[in-house]
Amino acid sequence: MKSIVVTIDGPAGAGKTTVSKRLAKALGYRYVDTGALYRGVAFEANAAGIHADDDEGLKTLCEKLDLKLVLSEQGLRLLSGGHDISEDIRTPAMSMMASAVSARPVVRAYLLGLQRKLAMEKGVVFEGRDMGTVVFPEAEMKFYLDASPEVRAYRRYLELKDSKAVTLEQVETDLRKRDENDSSRALAPLKPADDAVKIDATPIQVDDVIQTMMNHIKSKISE
Ligand code: C5P
Repeated sequence: MKSIVVTIDGPAGAGKTTVSKRLAKALGYRYVDTGALYRGVAFEANAAGIHADDDEGLKTLCEKLDLKLVLSEQGLRLLSGGHDISEDIRTPAMSMMASAVSARPVVRAYLLGLQRKLAMEKGVVFEGRDMGTVVFPEAEMKFYLDASPEVRAYRRYLELKDSKAVTLEQVETDLRKRDENDSSRALAPLKPADDAVKIDATPIQVDDVIQTMMNHIKSKISE
């Protein structure tokens, strides 16, 4: 069977990560979480005291950044200059900072090249916001996964609540703000590609989402 590029876009908390990891495993594909790369830029900008609208500062930062996604026993990890920053990038503050820096053309241009290099060999599941629209417009199989804001906020709250003092209300406010930033930015806004299969995960379980996607992929790779 031929190897293809699968893209999964959609807003925060729609279940993209769970679904992408499981699909990649079932297909024997690599999995790339592109949101982690934006979070990596945000983390390093924050550590260097660079503001999200300081394009010159971000440009200089990107020129010397060394971000790598590596697969370890603990799953996919983000290394910056060899340091594992996988945990540091998962805070609510880094989510908001990632959304802010992701609107800057200089950051998107830097990560565009990095992401395309990761698809040199096919057999990859890419998760993000603009995978099907901008980064891989030629991808053979595109999905757009959505769910209601309430369902997405609750899911994100369950992920965060053990480690951080957050309320459901705060999580939902942040998530709506991030959706608004991500969908309204001029460059590569969050939206489905014209040829994406749209799936609303609000009324269905994750197993059903994966089954639906697998059916689409199987018919694609056997074409
Ligand atoms: O997917 P995740 O929530 O980790 O992404 C963090 C932020 O990175 C998003 O809110 C979005 O602003 C940005 N992002 C993006 N394009 C991608 C992936 C993430 O703009 N392909």
